[in-house]
Amino acid sequence: MTAESPPARDLASDVRAWYRQNKRDLPWRRQGFTAWGTLVSEFMLQQTPVVRVVPRLEQWLERWPTPADLARESPGEAVRAWESLGYPRRALWLHAAAVTITKQHGGVVPRDVHDLLALPGVGDYTARAVAVFAYGERHPVVDTNIRRVIARAIAGVEHPSPPSAIRDLTAMTALLPESDAEAAEFNAAMMELGAVVCRASSPRCEVCPIRAHCAWRGAGYPAFTGTRRAVQKKYAGSDRQVRGLILALLREEHAATGRESIDALWPDAAQLERALKGLLADGLAAEPTPGRFTLPGHDHAPQP
Ligand code: SF4
Repeated sequence: MTAESPPARDLASDVRAWYRQNKRDLPWRRQGFTAWGTLVSEFMLQQTPVVRVVPRLEQWLERWPTPADLARESPGEAVRAWESLGYPRRALWLHAAAVTITKQHGGVVPRDVHDLLALPGVGDYTARAVAVFAYGERHPVVDTNIRRVIARAIAGVEHPSPPSAIRDLTAMTALLPESDAEAAEFNAAMMELGAVVCRASSPRCEVCPIRAHCAWRGAGYPAFTGTRRAVQKKYAGSDRQVRGLILALLREEHAATGRESIDALWPDAAQLERALKGLLADGLAAEPTPGRFTLPGHDHAPQP
């Protein structure tokens, strides 16, 4: 199937038509949403569900409407404002990206994928997503939802194989409409379809706009025989939980926090020590004087 072949054209046009009627009203889809807003939202959405991202995103953009506004702050303020979004290194990367955009791009989020890839914390997916959704460039964008739709509708299997940039981008390119605007809409539409209709469990095939094209459905939903990716480790009792407790304490305290307050957070001293050392090594915490801890200050620069 190629972008110009009738089956690909039909599939793309059906998904786009469905999207225009059914898309959720989300901040990054509204008229006038900025490229900076798109970059922030993509960082937040990397590992956090939409419902938790939306309120935090709106607060973030109200406080820091441009990259320069965030770049003026210390990285610690970004970590503080990140709050419960999880995986807080993203806040540090986003702050570092704001500094780079301000210093090297005149405060304007770049539109070129290579320039975007050079920003701290920006990987292939995020670079493409910003170029497409903020600037309307024509690129394939492949996230988990799109990989699942392609696996089912095109490859005829319930779950995608482990991610492969070349294979996934080739498969999406084969479906991408020729015009920039239609391609951008198609990328967004496929993501939405995977998020709300072609869900990982219980796909809603009865309302799916491409059910007539779907290879997995057409084959009678054969059972999956491949390898599923590993299940994420439990959060409760993990080092991630302990790191989260320490960070929550540092967020509350605007002055330096003493070691005794940290020691009171968790009964396992070795695990606590490991978590604290990890936060210091990652640049998420600082120790300006021995035994006193804070969020990172202005002199902090995250290490890749
Ligand atoms: S018909 Fe069902 S399985 Fe196929 S793409 Fe649509 S929702 Fe997914």
